[in-house]
Amino acid sequence: MSGLLIRGCTLWDGTPGSVYCEGGNIARVYRGEEPDVPADAEVIEASGGSLHPGLIDSHCHPFDYGWLKRCVDLRGTSNVTALRMRLTSGVLRAAPGEWVVGMGWDQEAFPDKSMPSRGDIDDVAPSNPVVLSRICGHIGLLNGEAIRRLGLGRGSGPEYERDPRGELTGIVKETALVDALRMVPKAPERLGSDLLTVDAEAAKLGLTGLHCIVSPEGYREELTALAGLRAAGALSLRYRVYVPFEALGFVKEKRLLDGAGGGGMRLNGVKIFTDGSLGARTAALREPYSDDPGNSGMLRMTDSELGRLVEKVDSLGYQAVVHAIGDRAVEQAVEALSLVTGGGNPRRHRIEHASVVPRDLRSKMARHGIRAAVQPSFVTSDTWAAERLGEERLRDLHPFRSMLEEGIVASGGSDCPVESLSPVLGMWSAMTRGGSVPSESVTLEQALALYTSFAASNGFDELALKEGSPADFTLFDSDIEGMHPALLRKVGVLATVVNGVAVHSYGAG
Ligand SMILES: [Zn+2]
Repeated sequence: MSGLLIRGCTLWDGTPGSVYCEGGNIARVYRGEEPDVPADAEVIEASGGSLHPGLIDSHCHPFDYGWLKRCVDLRGTSNVTALRMRLTSGVLRAAPGEWVVGMGWDQEAFPDKSMPSRGDIDDVAPSNPVVLSRICGHIGLLNGEAIRRLGLGRGSGPEYERDPRGELTGIVKETALVDALRMVPKAPERLGSDLLTVDAEAAKLGLTGLHCIVSPEGYREELTALAGLRAAGALSLRYRVYVPFEALGFVKEKRLLDGAGGGGMRLNGVKIFTDGSLGARTAALREPYSDDPGNSGMLRMTDSELGRLVEKVDSLGYQAVVHAIGDRAVEQAVEALSLVTGGGNPRRHRIEHASVVPRDLRSKMARHGIRAAVQPSFVTSDTWAAERLGEERLRDLHPFRSMLEEGIVASGGSDCPVESLSPVLGMWSAMTRGGSVPSESVTLEQALALYTSFAASNGFDELALKEGSPADFTLFDSDIEGMHPALLRKVGVLATVVNGVAVHSYGAG
């Protein structure tokens, strides 16, 4: 097979050059000399665009995103009327009695910022059960028919919101939402095509790898789809897979992700949840929410339950990736992980999101080599953060620059479909922060590290830009070095190269 020449780019170190890839690897890097390659090589003319190691999204939910494309998309609805209109179109498309699922509403975008209730939607869906997830995926709205089907009349506990008369409002949180979504038939035969759609979109956005979080509700179907597509050689990117603990037996029994996956797909670790989200006020905080003084969020597990689970994951040889957003949850995760990190955290255990991280927790993370997988886009999207946390705590929210400078290996990700899958938007958010706590803005070099070297390292992929190393590259359409950060979000991706193959390209010759 002939190779691929990326000609006339600005190399990762800022010098002009060209790169020739062959057999999946970097065959030769040319600096200031005319490349001498076989005549039948595929050529991409870079026209001075920046060539960087392949960008990796270190936390995303491609199945949820693919599924969202088939669901009622509620993102961008800024009032209950708009939400009702979108829901009505979904109900009209559904068969009688069929579940209608929507995702992406955000009461923070509504004029009065109050949560919707079943009273807002019951009349548009009188006979179809409806579940509408909030943008964060930690809180949802059920209509009366869904409550009836799920037999929730007596549902109790903080996961089920009730009005002053004791009636269910339809708002359910955390495990109650997971339980509701579990009841919805997922059309497993479509998971494969969902993933392929996301795979192609990710390639266009310049991503060469995804750290794919498999869901607790649908892991059987999702893992089967992943294994099927791997066997068919249908996926263009590299997948590093993270599963719920309860899925490990299934993976083993079906021998799903072992054997000859090469660098294409690998089961890396186990995803664990400790708390919810700030948007839903379910993230566990040390002190109460500034805009809800009686509420400090909720932990999903006790300290000892988490400790035992982390220890089990570690002893089985897997990487533990622990969802923790509030500082109380991050503290719980740090405590549990610090007991198994030994000298240098060889299993690369990490904290997902790590949103509210005050200095004491950052230094303990750095001391124990505990890593983080962060979502820069949260900074520019969560415009209500100051209300939730107050100005004082806001300085500890997404402190990317401090994390990096204090020695925490932090990788970037989108949490897509919570945020856009675009890594360029993530880099832009990390650099500009929409003006929020500018002292935590990162440099271009740091933003690139979030999505390249640190993301690779957080998934056990060693980045090496030398001859003989795997050829994964992202080629931008312009030279991004020295570009004003505000312009970065407009930068396009000219080509994406995975394993020496241009899986996306505008400039192939
Ligand atoms: Zn997530």
